[in-house]
Amino acid sequence: MDLKIQPDNENIIRELCSSDRIPHTVIIEGSNKEERDSAAVILAAGAVCEERKRPCLCCTACHKVIENHHPDVFFPEPSKNLKSGILSLKDLRDNYLSQISVKPNEAPCKVYGFFDADKLLREDAQNALLKTIEEPPQDLLFIFTAESAKSMLLTVRSRARIITLRHTESTNDEGERIAEEMIDGIVSSYEYDLLCTLSSINDKEKLTDALTAFAEKLRQTLGFYSGVNTDDTAVRRLARKLDRGRAIALSDVSNEAVRILKTNVNLQLLTTWLSSQYRRITWQK
Ligand SMILES: [Zn+2]
Repeated sequence: MDLKIQPDNENIIRELCSSDRIPHTVIIEGSNKEERDSAAVILAAGAVCEERKRPCLCCTACHKVIENHHPDVFFPEPSKNLKSGILSLKDLRDNYLSQISVKPNEAPCKVYGFFDADKLLREDAQNALLKTIEEPPQDLLFIFTAESAKSMLLTVRSRARIITLRHTESTNDEGERIAEEMIDGIVSSYEYDLLCTLSSINDKEKLTDALTAFAEKLRQTLGFYSGVNTDDTAVRRLARKLDRGRAIALSDVSNEAVRILKTNVNLQLLTTWLSSQYRRITWQK
């Protein structure tokens, strides 16, 4: 995988690796999915790296972790034939937990990493892991990532070291980029483009950033109608496509979505709703 992480956040993980002993259970929360996943992989590399200053990210062990074929590092995925995004208890038991007491092949420890653990592992699966987390063998590291550690079971959370990544400049840039894509979708004559952009967003913070940037463009578009000139091509394109009423309606829906995002909403349901609202407003005669 491509590691994408800001230096500040990478340093948080490196500090953890350089401490005497990496905690046996770590939850990585905050920032966006890309950074959380990268942080988890860097931490896993830190646990198995062959160099003294760990993780070097260039030795054979580190490479194997990054390419996800290290024999002692596991990042379980839901079954490929299931689109639910959930690792079933049976899958977890049969393919991972059953092997947990087997000694590592080549590294000093074994690592189990769970991306989006709050969604990947339902309560029954988290409970199944709990027994091992409560009395962890010396040579085992669990890494969970989640938007917020609070979405994990309290019993798991209370036994984990929680690492909070910082939001950084680049997440805003990412929001701007997605907002531009949304504007492409709005001005396009194919409704499907907008749906694709929205459904590709897999992270609440990212969607919040994108919607905030999009709402700002709409605000500038309303200013443009009132005679405030601008060189911003996105604003000019929106103004050409939309009348004032539609721009206001799009802005209202976007702000409403940002408000809903602060609640415990299902991201997929929200983007589906948002997409249908945008389409209704933009294309309805
Ligand atoms: Zn290394």
